Amino acid sequence: MASTRDYYEVLGIPHNASVEDIKKSYRKLAIKYHPDKNPGDKAAEEKFKELGEAYEVLSDPQKRAAYDQYGHAAFTARGGPASAAAGQQWGGFHDPFDIFREVFGGMGGSIFEDFFGGGRQRGGPMHGDDLRYDMEITFEEAIYGVEKEILVDRLDACATCHGTGGAPGARRTQCPMCHGRGRVTRSQGFLNISQDCPRCNGEGESVDKACPQCRSQGLARVQSRIKVRLPAGIETGMQLRSAGHGNAGPRGGPHGDLYVVVHVKPHDIFVRRGDDLLCDVPIAFPVAALGGQVDVPTINGHAKLSIPAGTQSGTVFRMRGKGVPNVEGYGRGDQHVRVIVEVPARLNSEQRKKLQEFAELCGEDTQPMMKSFVEKAKKWFGK
Ligand SMILES: [Zn+2]
Ligand SMILES: [Zn+2]
Repeated sequence: MASTRDYYEVLGIPHNASVEDIKKSYRKLAIKYHPDKNPGDKAAEEKFKELGEAYEVLSDPQKRAAYDQYGHAAFTARGGPASAAAGQQWGGFHDPFDIFREVFGGMGGSIFEDFFGGGRQRGGPMHGDDLRYDMEITFEEAIYGVEKEILVDRLDACATCHGTGGAPGARRTQCPMCHGRGRVTRSQGFLNISQDCPRCNGEGESVDKACPQCRSQGLARVQSRIKVRLPAGIETGMQLRSAGHGNAGPRGGPHGDLYVVVHVKPHDIFVRRGDDLLCDVPIAFPVAALGGQVDVPTINGHAKLSIPAGTQSGTVFRMRGKGVPNVEGYGRGDQHVRVIVEVPARLNSEQRKKLQEFAELCGEDTQPMMKSFVEKAKKWFGK
């Protein structure tokens, strides 16, 4: 905190001053140094803050006793020996404007406006909540991009009171519970607990006649149709922000945002890894042995893939640039094709006969993988 000046000196009062004297002196000086009365004057602003601190401490009997004993160290985190306990208990100081409002609010509240022509709003109206919408799309929609219209349940301004929360003709008045401060302070032993005023939800004012439709919340639950454009290449887990399409804030507060979280349904053929696509393509045994061309599905139609002679099952071929367009526009990924050699099943007698003849012609030279394996196995068994 800024001040290290003696609080009694700041308020211009003797050490035995009564609570009334403290308040009187604060009122006089706070009006003199209020920033609205001294625009751009940094020194006056510092004085105003210092006054708030001094008043906050000396107007509270427990804080005043701690100050009289330990001085400023009673309220700083790393001060004197007593600071740890005292500092933690009281934390920081309140907003000097809060203290100002608290003191002047007790006199009827209007003095603030009388002196400076217009009140200083604390924080303004509350922001509405952000919303999450989980959207399931097809694999194709994710690849090519899509525009969707979604129905979102959300809070919007109440149509009866246009979000003000007041019945027709109602007026906004200072909250009688917190006197316009928006916060109330409870004393609990050594602790002062400050919290949002429960009557006005921290806004400092409320309507004198509540809107019958929304019970003064200014909100109504509506179903909104919202258009969302999903770019090509979007993927599961990505989210899009639709600004201002979340819940409206209470009593005219701004809308939160809507976050659309994307879930892409799995595809029958393709599996996606980032911008790359993987797929398994079965090929016939003779094609694997002799080589040839196979038809491979891609996301842009069919493509021919050349299979070299002697291709083993499980071999992966890369088709460059046949993957997914990058969602941020950086080119496209590749398609990886894993070939699965299909062993002929359900042979007729002629096929069986030919295959047996073929087997008899096969030696170690035609099956290098088997040859190498047999040698390793021999070593393992020590023969
Ligand atoms: Zn209403
Ligand atoms: Zn209140």
